[in-house]
Amino acid sequence: MTTLTHCEPATDPTTVLRPTDSRLAPVVDSVLEGRRLSAEEGMLLFETSDLHTVCGLADIVRRRLHGNVAWYNINRHINYSNICTLSCSFCAFHRKRNEDGAYQYSVEQVREEAIKAQEAGATELHIVGGLHPRLPFEYYTDMLSTIREHAPKLHIKAFTAVEIVHLQKISRRERMKYEGTLAVLRDLKEAGLQSLPGGGAEVFDDRVHAEVFKSKIRSDEWLDVHRAAHELGLNSNATMLYGHVEERRERIHHMELLRAQQDRTLENWARVQEITDTGPGVVLSGPDQNYPHERLPMPGQDGLDTGYFQTIIPLPFFPDKSALEYLPGPTGLENLRTIAICRLMLDNVPHVKAFWIMQTLDMAQVMLQNGADDIDGTVVWYDITHVDGASTHQETTVTDLQRSIREAGFVPQERDTLYRRIRRDGNQWELDD
Ligand code: SF4
Repeated sequence: MTTLTHCEPATDPTTVLRPTDSRLAPVVDSVLEGRRLSAEEGMLLFETSDLHTVCGLADIVRRRLHGNVAWYNINRHINYSNICTLSCSFCAFHRKRNEDGAYQYSVEQVREEAIKAQEAGATELHIVGGLHPRLPFEYYTDMLSTIREHAPKLHIKAFTAVEIVHLQKISRRERMKYEGTLAVLRDLKEAGLQSLPGGGAEVFDDRVHAEVFKSKIRSDEWLDVHRAAHELGLNSNATMLYGHVEERRERIHHMELLRAQQDRTLENWARVQEITDTGPGVVLSGPDQNYPHERLPMPGQDGLDTGYFQTIIPLPFFPDKSALEYLPGPTGLENLRTIAICRLMLDNVPHVKAFWIMQTLDMAQVMLQNGADDIDGTVVWYDITHVDGASTHQETTVTDLQRSIREAGFVPQERDTLYRRIRRDGNQWELDD
């Protein structure tokens, strides 16, 4: 079972929230009473100058779900290749095959990295890469089964929905549509895949899609991949890459689509569990939530076979070295507001992550007080985005993660990929359940 700590806010929230924008009064009532926010209310949260109230509301919801706990993990990222058939205009990571800086790992190199990660005490490998034009499907299944064999303690979270659709093509199951997605994911799961990261979602909007990533999969395809993963009992995350050409209402639309899909998954699950008082919608974050979130399905446990979106990860766009370099990118306050609104709108997604690599650790600390409950992990070798010219080797220590969390006023708790508590002695660890 997920271990979420319940804890009442230290102070009665109604005494600390005094909106300076009177239009927010009904939104405050909705949050305090646990009612779902509408798209119009979400837009108001973006438009109001009263950021203090927006963040205060997000903090109330965050504390209802997670109390004083803030999660981190000990993980390693492997970006197995930056060679990609696509050229998304916001992406500074991809290279063509003969271009300077293009690389691909062999399965043996991945195996070595996995062994090192396991020996160093990591609990998770996060594996993503470009859409390589030549690597066969067997490369991916071999990679997974090799890791499974040589580093069995690591949880393998791998391949964005965009990569899964690419694998569907190269394994010649493209025409099978949804059945083909299921077949690919079944093969990958059998080889060792345990969950999906949330990348590649960008912003679910056809206009934005046509303008900046039109050769990439559309929102319906991205959502279908995750639906298939959930159907097979694989949990997944969801990202939202914002701060480029999209408008704020398109961010709200993105959140609405995720929320609707999560509703369908959890409503089905609630029916299986014979919890009949859900709906419409499954709200985890109200004071009297209509679904007991400690009963969320845990893939693989007790023969259960339902996955769901665990975490929403808002990712600010970094223009540097991309084809959209002329854009300014979002500011710190916009990042703060966006993470707070994600917490408030996505009332059926248990976790909100301030991914420190893209938000910076300093900003992630602030975000913990404004809706986020997770800052990700120690992360080694993250190639996708470099903040302010940071090198490829981006890593922080457990001591720094814990100190950052404590300074923000929370209790640091190491987790595994599925948000189970970890008990650790140096590089040795076990589940604390
Ligand atoms: S974002 Fe992904 S799919 Fe697009 S160019 Fe970069 S690596 Fe390729």
